Amino acid sequence: AKPIVAIVGRPNVGKSTLFNKLIGQRLSIVEDTPGVTRDRIYAQCEWLNHEFMLVDTGGIEPYSEDVILSQMRRQAEVAIESASVIILVTDVRSGVTATDQEVATMLLKSGKPIILCVNKVDSIGDTPAEVYEFYNLGLGDPIPVSSTHGHGTGDLLDEVLKHL
Ligand code: GDP
Ligand code: MG
Repeated sequence: AKPIVAIVGRPNVGKSTLFNKLIGQRLSIVEDTPGVTRDRIYAQCEWLNHEFMLVDTGGIEPYSEDVILSQMRRQAEVAIESASVIILVTDVRSGVTATDQEVATMLLKSGKPIILCVNKVDSIGDTPAEVYEFYNLGLGDPIPVSSTHGHGTGDLLDEVLKHL
């Protein structure tokens, strides 16, 4: 079986957009509207001759903080159980949230390789200062990515490969 790379993170940070960009096809549903059912979606992926299964995870139900948190715990548990590498996606625009912190702690305890993606860094050039705040999650170097433009996705995949 191919190793699994799971994409986890809060609703609306851009997990599905990243998933689609990485596989180069629009397979998963990208939604602006909260509350839409989004199933976990798998896709076969290849980067520099390494094959793996990429898994997009999504939320269901209305967005209350409690629901988001319990859903993220479940999401993280499934990822920890099944994935070889976990990509935690965060959003540079919202900064580090309490939920990010909680999930990061959970993931860190698992001992699995965690890659920290700071998404929605749409500008090219110097890394914006806001990205450095994400060091506080204790997951190592944040990788700035723009999932809509595709900036940084190569660096992200290079990092994934190191742990496969
Ligand atoms: P998910 O809930 O984590 O799967 O997030 P989605 O992929 O559905 O994206 C949520 C919203 O963020 C959508 O409106 C996306 O177009 C937007 N988005 C995702 N990635 C980026 C990005 O890199 N830059 C910008 N500006 N918007 C993004
Ligand atoms: Mg999604």
